[in-house]
Formats: sequence, C-alpha cells, structure tokens
Amino acid sequence: MAEQAGSYDVVIVGLGPAGSSLARLLSGSSLRVLGIDMVDWDGVWGKPCGDAIGKHHFEETGLPEPRGEEVKQRVEGIDIISPSEKHVLTVRGEGYVIDRNKLGTRYIREAEQGGVEVKLNTQAIAPIIENGKVAGVRAVDRKTGKHLIFRANVVVDATGNSGVLRRKLPRDWPANEPLKPVDANIAYREIVELDYEIERPEYLRIYLNQKIAPGGYWWFFPEGITRANIGLGVQGGRGYPRPNVIYREVLARRPEVRVTRVLNASGSLVPTRRPANTLAWHGFIGIGDNGYTVNPVHGGGMGYAMYAAFMARKAILEAHEAGDFSAKGLWSVNTGYMRTLGAKQAALDVFRIFLQNLSDDDIEYGIKHGIMKAEDAYETSVTGELHANLSLLDKVATVLKTLGRPSLLPKLAIVARYMKRVREHYLSYPDSPEGLQKWVSEVEGIYREYKGSLGINW
Ligand SMILES: Cc1cc2nc3c(=O)[nH]c(=O)nc-3n(C[C@H](O)[C@H](O)[C@H](O)COP(=O)(O)OP(=O)(O)OC[C@H]3O[C@@H](n4cnc5c(N)ncnc54)[C@H](O)[C@@H]3O)c2cc1C
Repeated sequence: MAEQAGSYDVVIVGLGPAGSSLARLLSGSSLRVLGIDMVDWDGVWGKPCGDAIGKHHFEETGLPEPRGEEVKQRVEGIDIISPSEKHVLTVRGEGYVIDRNKLGTRYIREAEQGGVEVKLNTQAIAPIIENGKVAGVRAVDRKTGKHLIFRANVVVDATGNSGVLRRKLPRDWPANEPLKPVDANIAYREIVELDYEIERPEYLRIYLNQKIAPGGYWWFFPEGITRANIGLGVQGGRGYPRPNVIYREVLARRPEVRVTRVLNASGSLVPTRRPANTLAWHGFIGIGDNGYTVNPVHGGGMGYAMYAAFMARKAILEAHEAGDFSAKGLWSVNTGYMRTLGAKQAALDVFRIFLQNLSDDDIEYGIKHGIMKAEDAYETSVTGELHANLSLLDKVATVLKTLGRPSLLPKLAIVARYMKRVREHYLSYPDSPEGLQKWVSEVEGIYREYKGSLGINW
C-alpha cells in the first residue's frame, strides 16, 4: 500500500545539473517545492562526464559559479587537433573542469536553505496521470522499501537519459518522444593520475579522429598538472565498437595516457540531437538530457541543462500565477528555450550530422586549409550560424577545385543553408500547443530533405 507522502506545487525528479539547478533557482520563492533523487549524497551529479563547462552558462542563468574545491581546473581555451595531429585549432574561452559532486551538493544544500524539501534515496517509478494531466509521482524509498505518492501541480522530469517519467507518458502525448540511437553518443571516460606533468593544463584538448572515435571525438581534459579526464564518444546505432573497448585498445596505449592510477572509470549515453519537440505538456516539464538539451556538436550538456532549468523556473512561476498548469500554461519553457539556445542547438545538430559524415581526410583538409578557423568555430558554436564560413566559401572554392576536392564545397553550402533554415524554424517556434503538430511535421520535413541532399540514410 503506497503512502500519501505530500502535496506540492512542484516535484522535481532527479537532482543532477538540470534538477538541482531548477531547485536552486526556485528556492526562496513562495512555491512548495520537493526535489527527489535515487542516489545518496555521494552519488549527487554522479553521471560520468568530461566535467568541463563554459563560464558563460553561469552568467546566463545567474547560478553560482564553482569556487574552491569545486574547481578542478580553470580553463582558458580548447585545442582542437586534426586527425594527423599536425594541425591545431585553438579556440579561446573561459571555463572550468569541475568537481561535479561538490558543486551539485552545494546547489542542493542552498536549495534546501531556500525552502526546497529534498529527499535522496528516493526513486521515482512512474508518473501519476489523472484527467489527462500529470498529477504526481509514484516513488519508492530505497532505504525502507516503502512506496510513496507525491502529488503536484507540475512534475519535472530531470532524470537524464533514463527519462523515467517522460517514457511513461501516454504515447500520443508529444512530450513522449523517443531518442534514436544515431542521435546519441555512447561515451566513456577515465579520471586518471599520470606519471608526468601536463603542459598548459588550462587548455582542454579535443582530438578529431574518426578511426579512434567514429561519429564523435576523444578528449584529454587536464585536472591540474598530474590528473586528467580522458575519454571518447562514439555515435550510436551505427555498429561502431564500444568506447570502453576503444579506450582500452587504442587510447590506453597512447603516450599521453601513461597512468599510475585510475580514480574513476565509467560510461553513459549522451543525446546529441536538436531539443525535444516540446519540453512541456499537461502538468509536466522535461529538462536536461531528458529534454535532449545538449550541444549536439561537443556533447556538453551541463550548461544547457542549467539554461533549460532557468526557462522552466520562469514557466512554472507564470503557470502558478495564472493557476494554469496545462501545456498552454507551461508553454513559455518552450518559447523561452527554443527561440534562444534551442535554435542554436538545432542548427548545430544540422552541423553535427554533416561532421559525422566526414572522413578524416576531409577534417584534416578543413583544419589545415583554414576552411574552419578558430574564430569561425567559436562563432558557429555560439550562434549556430555558419556565417563566417559562408563568407569563406567563395575564397575556398578555387582552392577546393584545384586541390581535387570539389565535392566539399557544395556540401558546405547545403549545410550552411539548412543550418539557417532549421534555426529560423526554431525561432518561429509556435506560440501555443495548437501550433505544435504543424511545426513538428515541418521540422521533420526539413531534416528529411537535408539528409536526402547529403545522401545520408541513417
Ligand atoms: C562520458 C561523458 C562525458 C561528458 N562530458 C561532458 C562535459 O565535459 N561537459 C558537459 O557539460 N557535459 C558532458 N556530458 C553530458 C553531461 O554529463 C549531461 O548532459 C548532464 O549530466 C545532464 O544533466 P541532467 O541533470 O539532465 O542529467 P543527469 O546528470 O543524468 O542527472 C539525472 C539525475 O536523475 C537521477 N535519477 C535518474 N533516475 C531516477 C529515478 N528513477 N528516480 C529519482 N532520480 C533519478 C540520477 O540519479 C541523477 O542524479 C558528458 C556525458 C558523458 C556520458
């Protein structure tokens, strides 16, 4: 027999970067907020990660920046290394490699101090659906085995990939949108102690090499001068070898990976697609990996999860004010997210599909001949536009032709065109749920056309 364990305005399920940011952002409000997570304190923000995050995400959301022991390494930029490793594109930008557990614990503690109730060791099992809306959550106390029922006006699924609630929504609800394996990376990383001192630890290193990390990349993120987070992501659904196997057979044999001790080794899935068609439905919001709010090109999801939380906070406060927790009442989480970061993310998804189809030769060539320069890479990753590269197209046209690579040019033009189209489509995201179905069929049409014009059949 399940116990009625309380009634709230908001129940946040999952206190990773998305859920704990939302809890922190809602603290101090007049709302009754409960946050639950299946893990204990030592498992907070425990998903394996490269742990790297740009400073701008904190500025955009007002969430506190990491400090003291929460910072493992201050970052000044990223070296993007070509397949031959002869050419490097250095992209400057401030950020951190963080201790996720420490920063996450602080966010949750500060949320508690601001009036949010927190229950760890509490595992959600399913949403409660009544009268066509989500009305609460069924959960189990992992210590006592007791079954619990939490009722709420709005339930937030921030359970990451597991999507415990989203997946159990009725199939005809647009918020229940499955993730295709080709739209995800399977990623694996080890945090290691090295037997040498790292030079320039304030620069992250990303190695583009389709043979080592097909449809992804491998990384070396310093954590001080003798520790590093080393890992790789591999596109799913294409039959590629598993990343932990590649790590053992290829990366572990590299000269940079001379390890004296492995501190943590683990892997997981990263969604690398455009944002979910809708982050909200009746009584429901899904944010973070759960709402596919990850940068499709570099797979960074923490900052986007925080931004989705920022938009969710606004939508929840508005819905509370209006007493309307329907999809319509919560819709501003969609308009707020999709017309800003979501539009950029969708454009980057178009770029991601192109990158996953390139050969090492193409990538080498692009970096070597400056088709993609540092400022363009930055511009593209910040705005989701291929402006700078487009202006370069004329200049590179002749070079591409004379160097026997004419096929790249029309492809780049196609990519730039579809990045713009998808971005504009996201910028005109519908004002209310009534417009969603039409908008979704249009975006799906744009993708079909795009993949067709590049000859991609996955
Ligand atoms: C190997 C790897 C490297 C990565 N590198 C980076 C990087 O360098 N930078 C970056 O920004 N991103 C990176 N990412 C992505 C990043 O880890 C995620 O985008 C981010 O953690 C998403 O946060 P989230 O809160 O949405 O989900 P999660 O971090 O997955 O948190 C979900 C929370 O929900 C809880 N939960 C799950 N199920 C239940 C349940 N049934 N009941 C209650 N609680 C539940 C979990 O315990 C967890 O606390 C990487 C991912 C991987 C796999």
